[in-house]
Amino acid sequence: MIKAGVIGWPVKHSLSPQLHGWWLKQYGIAGEYQSYPVEPGTLREFIGSLKNNGFKGVNVTVPHKQEVLQYLDRLTPVAQGIGAVNTVVVEVDGTLLGDNTDAYGFITSLKAEAPGFNPALPAIVLGAGGAARAIVASLQNAGVRNLILINRTREHAQELAHSLGVTAYIAGWNDLPTLLPQAGLLVNTTVLGMAGQPPLEIDPAGLGKGAVVFDLIYNPLETPLLRAARIQGNTALNGLGMLLHQAVPGFEYWFGKRPEVMLEQRRSLEALLK
Ligand code: NAP
Repeated sequence: MIKAGVIGWPVKHSLSPQLHGWWLKQYGIAGEYQSYPVEPGTLREFIGSLKNNGFKGVNVTVPHKQEVLQYLDRLTPVAQGIGAVNTVVVEVDGTLLGDNTDAYGFITSLKAEAPGFNPALPAIVLGAGGAARAIVASLQNAGVRNLILINRTREHAQELAHSLGVTAYIAGWNDLPTLLPQAGLLVNTTVLGMAGQPPLEIDPAGLGKGAVVFDLIYNPLETPLLRAARIQGNTALNGLGMLLHQAVPGFEYWFGKRPEVMLEQRRSLEALLK
């Protein structure tokens, strides 16, 4: 029985067990994938015992994505560049590899669900936390050269751009109405709009017709931002596609099969959120 899972604090709301469990069943693989609550302060111990506890690896979620770096033997260049790890692999010789597949998940979801996305147009990223780092890195890789960052704490946006080595215009929330008409992409990476969090109070009315709105949140499946964008005719994507696609490399590392993201699988996750 191949063993993997997801660690975080809290972690009981994670959809990853259902997501990976769906593939395990689909491909008839003898494996298990469960969630493991790992309290802050106990991460080193948990990571250090992965091999002895029979794990092939784990996904890492909030609040451990950055702290985990120091307990790993090596990082992929992507994880190194982003400065965060969401996928840990226990290699055959017991060494621990850290990867970040959030950037891959985001860009793959964007390209699959918004084929009209134009990287030549400005992209506005709201937020400057861990997820924003992966989004900015992947947009830069995708050829977006006109990046605009807006965050509650302006210094976090400046620090993000500096540490990733990207040239970005740091704007304020009040600048949005003047920035929206030129943008090809608006991404919300803040927690605002998520179930249990305050709302994200912005109006996407100024966006051009072809612009894409991507909200990393998937609970609720349609945030007020996405709803407003969809009603006015913009392509509006929630974070479920990113969640599904970021899981692909991990599943392949651990279970030896590159899985396909399937519509039926997505529907099964949506049903859990309704
Ligand atoms: P994080 O590192 O804690 O960053 C949180 C961000 O939200 C920061 O930019 C923070 O601004 C901002 N923020 C928090 N409270 C705010 C408030 N009251 N007003 C304005 N801004 C506020 O979190 P994260 O890991 O980046 O995750 C962010 C979101 O992305 C979450 O909703 C998470 O579920 C989602 N996510 C989705 C996926 C997916 O696969 N779909 C993957 C990863 C993350 P400050 O810098 O000012 O604190």
